[in-house]
Amino acid sequence: MKKLLLLLLLSFAPSVMSDGMPDLGDVSQEALSPLQERQIGQQSMLQIRASKQFFDDAEVNDYLNKIGSRLVEKSTEPSQSFEFFCINDPSINAFAIPGGFVGVNVGLLLLTDSESELASVLSHEISHVTQHHYARMLNGTKNDGLAVMAAMAVAILAARSNPQAATAAMATAQASAAQKQLDFTRTHEQEADRIGIDLLQKAGFSIHAMPTFLTRLQHATRLLEGSAPNYLRTHPITSNRVADLENRVEKQPYQLIPDSVEFQLVRTKLIASQKTAADAVRFFKSALVGKEKFGNPVAQRYGLVLSLLRKHDIAQATQEMAILRKQLSNHPMIETLAGQVLREGHDITATLAFYQTAVQAFPYYRALIYDYADVLLQNDQSAVSVKMVGEQITRTPGDVKLYNLQARGYAQLGLYLEQHQAQAYAFYGQGNLHGAIQQLELARQVGGSFQQLSMIESDLRELHEMIAASAKK
Ligand SMILES: [Zn+2]
Repeated sequence: MKKLLLLLLLSFAPSVMSDGMPDLGDVSQEALSPLQERQIGQQSMLQIRASKQFFDDAEVNDYLNKIGSRLVEKSTEPSQSFEFFCINDPSINAFAIPGGFVGVNVGLLLLTDSESELASVLSHEISHVTQHHYARMLNGTKNDGLAVMAAMAVAILAARSNPQAATAAMATAQASAAQKQLDFTRTHEQEADRIGIDLLQKAGFSIHAMPTFLTRLQHATRLLEGSAPNYLRTHPITSNRVADLENRVEKQPYQLIPDSVEFQLVRTKLIASQKTAADAVRFFKSALVGKEKFGNPVAQRYGLVLSLLRKHDIAQATQEMAILRKQLSNHPMIETLAGQVLREGHDITATLAFYQTAVQAFPYYRALIYDYADVLLQNDQSAVSVKMVGEQITRTPGDVKLYNLQARGYAQLGLYLEQHQAQAYAFYGQGNLHGAIQQLELARQVGGSFQQLSMIESDLRELHEMIAASAKK
């Protein structure tokens, strides 16, 4: 467990000031160091993850990370850690936060027509990060100070995604000061395009997708009223930029690169998420059996089952799922949905048997593991759940959801020391150091073996040191 906390510590910002601002060290420094960039990013992510705008869906985010890592591997900084995530916002935007965090709005994802188009957006954002455009922007802003810039990512995200919300409070003068500096320059844009297109090619995506998507973006946003949407403001598309890209890809033969099934399914899931359950059922039915069928039939049926489940029409969802599993067998996204439909049917024996087979086939598929652990906990099989979740935690020690599931399992087993310990790690992962301390103190009160208690002491010491270190600054 000691090693576990250490691993957790490594995956989060070590020093956070008491007012929630990342510690940026010496403000007289001209540029941000990679460590400082990472700290700003991690601090921002804690807030983003806790906000309603974070699209908290393991399948969607895992998919984005899969495409993203394929591109990062071909970049000049293949070992830089990146995290890609989805923002539940219908407006068209994608953005990079210093330190390798890339957010994509649902609105932008739905505007993409192919996986290569999505990859072209990600590769452009990745290039802003690997070229350290934020740090380079800061070079020209000596007077504003780094502290102002530290709040920028979150403040601006909040202001942009939901201008009317109360969160706008945090994005007042500071954000507008930072705003000017956050807009990438034309030089930055062209550099991100040039490097991005190179990544696309090396990772096996279609390079033609980049100018195609930019042009679509321009057309789509021309129809919108009011000021230019966020993406265009932060990443200005000039006719030069598009012409430049077209010149670059012109010499290359056009290659048709088929989309993965995941792209189709993730996109369908997002389409469904933007409609009411009843509207979504109607939409996918007309796509499958209407006068003018449209789209990929497997993806449309996936959307139909998803929406029927949301509408609590379990009988029809079960029927459609049987067809879907014949059309696409042995796919983790389909199996995950099949499990969710089965759970609603209340045949516990069949449900447990299903999950047992499914996690054997896909032992590292997060969405499936979360669901199975929950099913086990609901059916008095806490010991099985605790064992499985424990194995997952050793593989992915930063996963807060796993710690929460673990805490529930230990509570059911009456292992209260372990319960509070797991809850402490969950709080820690959310950046809540005081909550973590409180849980460890509760664990200590429960009492345990010498070894357990000394581990709790040492974790407590580390947490107190972290709080003291950040209060000093
Ligand atoms: Zn850009």
